[in-house]
This record gives sequence, structure tokens and C-alpha cells, in this order.
Amino acid sequence: YETDNVASEDEKPPPLAGTNVMNIILVSAECAPWSKTGGLGDVAGSLPKALARRGHRVMIVVPHYGNYAEAQDIGVRKRYKVAGQDMEVTYFHAYIDGVDFVFIDSPIFRNLEKNIYGGNRVDILRRMVLFCKAAVEVPWYVPCGGICYGDGNLVFIANDWHTALLPVYLKAYYRDHGLMNYTRSVLVIHNIAHQGRGPLEDFNNVDLPGNYIDLFKFHDPVGGEHFNIFAAGLKTADRIVTVSHGYAWELKTSEGGWGLHGIINENDWKFRGIVNGVDTKDWNPQFDVHLKSDGYTNYTLETLQTGKPQCKAALQKELGLPVREDVPIISFIGRLDHQKGIDLIAEAIPWMMDQDVQLVMLGTGRPDLEQMLTQFECQHNNKIRGWVGFSVKMAHRITAGADILLMPSRFEPCGLNQLYAMNYGTIPVVHAVGGLRDTVKPFNPFEESGLGWTFDSAEANRLIHALGNCLWTYREYKKSWEGLQQRGMSQDLSWDNAAQQYEEVLVAAKYQW
Ligand code: ADP
Repeated sequence: YETDNVASEDEKPPPLAGTNVMNIILVSAECAPWSKTGGLGDVAGSLPKALARRGHRVMIVVPHYGNYAEAQDIGVRKRYKVAGQDMEVTYFHAYIDGVDFVFIDSPIFRNLEKNIYGGNRVDILRRMVLFCKAAVEVPWYVPCGGICYGDGNLVFIANDWHTALLPVYLKAYYRDHGLMNYTRSVLVIHNIAHQGRGPLEDFNNVDLPGNYIDLFKFHDPVGGEHFNIFAAGLKTADRIVTVSHGYAWELKTSEGGWGLHGIINENDWKFRGIVNGVDTKDWNPQFDVHLKSDGYTNYTLETLQTGKPQCKAALQKELGLPVREDVPIISFIGRLDHQKGIDLIAEAIPWMMDQDVQLVMLGTGRPDLEQMLTQFECQHNNKIRGWVGFSVKMAHRITAGADILLMPSRFEPCGLNQLYAMNYGTIPVVHAVGGLRDTVKPFNPFEESGLGWTFDSAEANRLIHALGNCLWTYREYKKSWEGLQQRGMSQDLSWDNAAQQYEEVLVAAKYQW
């Protein structure tokens, strides 16, 4: 393996003032607004800023998929070996909202912003190997604010299997050599369904000493004996976080842990759930830039009763639906795959079409499900819009203009759309699972409490039952509906609260509590 990766201890920066001020490096395969396929991109775009607001020095490292106007080539070039092949990377940098953004440039990342996880298994693996090797070196090679972070008070936050190699490289290239002894790593599980599984020969791609194979070797009834990157990362990281309490609980069960529940249970002492926040600059009806044109308008809790109907009319107009204030708009936004339960919505469509409703769905993913969306629109042109595409602007406009958001996910680690919906006075109807269960307290008409409707098993008739109650309240109990909207909009869903909890984890990792 590569000895080049071992840096010298005398490159350490001077210590920072304040004992709890940390150098934090979040490493992610995607980061909004430059690259995003889902919630991970949003988290990577927001959490670093929230940690920086708490006084830490924070960096985010992400691949340079396109040509980003903000990013400057800082002239640092390094070569890393990936499966025996020499690859050069260039480090780019931008300083935005108190955070240092470091983009790792290499021909193997370029032009992938629309296809981050595209290519065959080995191609993706090699991209992630190069990325993690380059990222673990960032504290030594990339000066931020004039100096390199080095080993001083440093914590890496890695995310999902894509960067689960980082804690392993930290150990193999440094810790095993008595270096970077003060650096810690935290691995965040955003979705356990993807684990970087492959045949044992994949070990030849990751450039680690032979004895490391045991960390990756994993046996379960589904995969048999195989190579599993997430497993190695979970064992090696100093702390593990996942994105809600409900999902933390599910990950420890055989159904929810997708084979890794045993490892998670063994490492329960270092495992914690923290619910994601919302970027309140980006996803805020008061400031939302996507509501500033085409008849939409910004609104607040005070102007909700005029602002939201205006957005609803603008949405109906933009989508070519009948412009009617009294008809409830039901919406869905998300990846079109089995996880998101779009097939349950499909099953419920005949029932929905018997109601006086409009249904707006936005998504990309499995081609058969994309085609299904288009087909529903053709069949019910006066009531349904099935927009196939990834459009951040439309996601914001639908969130503002719709009355109801459906999230029938089979599993949902945190889920962000229901949080955005509540911020916009849009009522969520969700399958009570993972983060959805944590964040959408069911409406209780006797106490006038709660935030939306939940159903407890992923079945179309359960969804219909919950949606039916929701529509009944929308039509018959205006005051209750307004109460739901007000409670949703009054919540503090900002990242500040989550960032404080992340800080607790980082401090615990640092002192190894
Ligand atoms: P996941 O990470 O499982 O995809 P989340 O609910 O955590 O689900 O995050 C999804 C994010 O991706 C949200 O910001 C959502 O608005 C966005 N998103 C998903 N699909 C689309 C789409 N087709 N167009 C625009 N944004 C989308």
C-alpha cells in the first residue's frame, strides 16, 4: 500500500484558541447546490454552515463534478494510486458562508453531476477510493484561512458507504503508524440500503494492507460472503450517527439493518440518532427565490392565508390545471423507486380520482415508474400532473402551492420533504417509519394537536384511509386545518439544533467518552 499517504507530524498548525473549537472536515459524494441526488446533498450543503456558526473551523470536501464558477484552482496537485494506477488530482477551493469548500478534481469525476453514482460497480468504487484517499490528505495539503488543519483538534465526518473508506484510510495510513493520533472520524448513515457490496476481489481496488480484508469480509443470507465497505467503515469509525431516532432503532433490527444490524448492535455504544435540519435560508417561504416570479409570492405565517392561495393559483396555472382555490392539491416529490412507495400512490389513484382533488407528482428514477407518471397524466389530464425530471425550482413551487404532501416511503431514514412541507404550511400524510415517525406527530382532533396524518403499514388502503381523513378535515374543519398549518410553520426545524447535537458527538469522539 501507499506510504506516500503518510504525512509528517511537523506540518501541524498552531493550536487554536478555545478548547472546544474544532477543525471539522465533512466528506461527501454530493453537496447542494453543486451536486445533489437527494437528502445527502442537502445535509452536506447545510450542516457545515451550521457547525461554522457555532464557532468551529469547518471544511467540506466533495468531488469536482463540473466547472463551478466559485471554485479556484489552488495549485495543489497530488498523485494517488488506485488499484495500481497512478491518478493525479487537483484541489479547488471556495470560501462561502464561513465554510471552506474543497473540490477534488480528476478526469474520473468530471461531467458526472447528473450521474454521480453512474457506471459499473468497479468504476464507482475506484472513484470513491480516489476521493477518500485525496480527502484524508486535505488537512495536510490544502491551506484554509492561510494554514493547513493538520492533526490539531481534527474530526472527519464521513457520509454513507461512498466515504466509509475514509475512517479505514485514517487508521491504515496514519494511526497504525502512530500518526494523527488526535484525529477522530464519525460515519453518518443516511441510507443503509446501499453498502458498497461486491465480490471479495474488490479488496484489490482499495489499496490496503492484506490483514485489512477481515474488516470488509461480511457474510449474510442475502449476499453470502462478500466485500462490504459500509461494514468496514462502521467498525472503524470512532462514532456512528444516523439521521433520525426512528431510523436508529430500525437499523438495529434484522428488517431495517439490511444485514448490518449485527455490526450496529455491537457498536451501539458509539451510535446515535440526530434528526436532520432544514436550510432555513433556502427552504423558507419568506425568502424562497423560486417564489419571486411567475405569479408566485413569498409568504409568512402572518400572510399565509393570502400568500399560499396565490402560490396555489400560480402552480395550477404553470401546470395547466384548472385554477380553483377550493380543490385540494395533493403532491409527491422524490426519487421514483421502491423505497419511496410511489406504487402505493399508483394503487390509490382510482380512489383519488373519484374525489375532487388535483395530484401533482415530481420525480425521476426507475424508467417504468417514470413512464407510469406520464401515463397517469395522460389518463387524467384535468386532475393529474406527473412531471418527470429533477427540478429544484419545481420542488420549491410545489411545496408552496400544494395543500398536502404524500410520503408513503417503505423506509425513510430522515426524509426532508415533509420538513420542507411543514415549513410551507403544507400538510404531510406519511407512512410512520424512520424519520417520518419522528417528525410528523399525528393530528389529534380532540386536542387540536399534531402536524399531519400517519399510517402504520405501507399499504394503499392504509394510505387511502389517512388521506381520506386529511381531505375530510381540509373540507369540513377549516380552523383545524389552519391550526395544523400554524403548528407546522412555527416549529424550529433549523440546523442549529442538530448542529449542537453533532457537536456533542464530535466532542465525545475527541475525548473518547
Ligand atoms: P432521499 O435522500 O432518500 O432522496 P430526502 O427526502 O431525504 O430523500 O431528500 C430528497 C431531496 O431531494 C429533497 O431536497 C427533495 O426536494 C429533492 N428531490 C428529490 N427528487 C427531486 C426532483 N425530482 N426534483 C427536485 N428535487 C428533488
